[in-house]
Amino acid sequence: MEKPIFKRIVLKISGEALAGKKGFGIDREVLNLIADQVIEVQKMGVEVAIVVGGGNIWRGRDGVGMDRTTADHMGMLATVINALALQDVLESKNVQTRVQTAIEMRQIAEPYIRRRAIRHLEKGRIVIFACGTGNPYFSTDTTAALRAAEIEAEVILLAKNVDGVYDDDPKKNPNAKKIDEICYIDVLNQGLGVMDTTAISLCMDNKIPIIVFGLENQENIKAAVLGKKVGTIIGE
Ligand code: UDP
Repeated sequence: MEKPIFKRIVLKISGEALAGKKGFGIDREVLNLIADQVIEVQKMGVEVAIVVGGGNIWRGRDGVGMDRTTADHMGMLATVINALALQDVLESKNVQTRVQTAIEMRQIAEPYIRRRAIRHLEKGRIVIFACGTGNPYFSTDTTAALRAAEIEAEVILLAKNVDGVYDDDPKKNPNAKKIDEICYIDVLNQGLGVMDTTAISLCMDNKIPIIVFGLENQENIKAAVLGKKVGTIIGE
């Protein structure tokens, strides 16, 4: 049997990826596909923590004319909607999960407590982190970097709706080239929009590799965990 090369991972799922082709809201079919892959990986013995984005519902920067902090609070609440949807589909497939939120809402989910999160992972539960970092002006990509550092995950799998990092925006430039491997500092220097600079620098400082890939190939999460070449690897 093929062996995973990671023991503990953070999977970051952007809101856009959850929206599938609809571009907005949650596509149940996409959720199903993600859940199946996550469960497969978890059954191989990998501890899986998931950070969900919220861009399929609301992004702080879309709140033109709004107070930025209020707009970001709305964005963080959007991630909770996604987290609950993901929890629901995972549990419908008989796996144990916990949602932990960076902003307390105890009637809905546990508050984020690092030691408790690690304990859940050790017990084979899938932990879903919602509400980002709990602070405005941050992103869920930065949350993935922060949580990965905190729980000592070996890698961040960044699931997007593009299949890797390109040297230019592939949606605007048909000649944009996909990059197989790149170092953190080049991502920063070249201004590549794969992750925000806060997230990249946090990963750089803490030496957390990032694998960026698309969810269009249903096997990508599993392939990445098995050490196969998918998408783009960002590292030292
Ligand atoms: N957000 C925030 N602080 C955080 C994480 C997220 O304020 O630590 C807000 C921010 O407004 C952001 C929104 O939540 O736009 C949704 O997160 P993000 O844009 O990272 O989601 P994604 O692009 O991954 O779907």
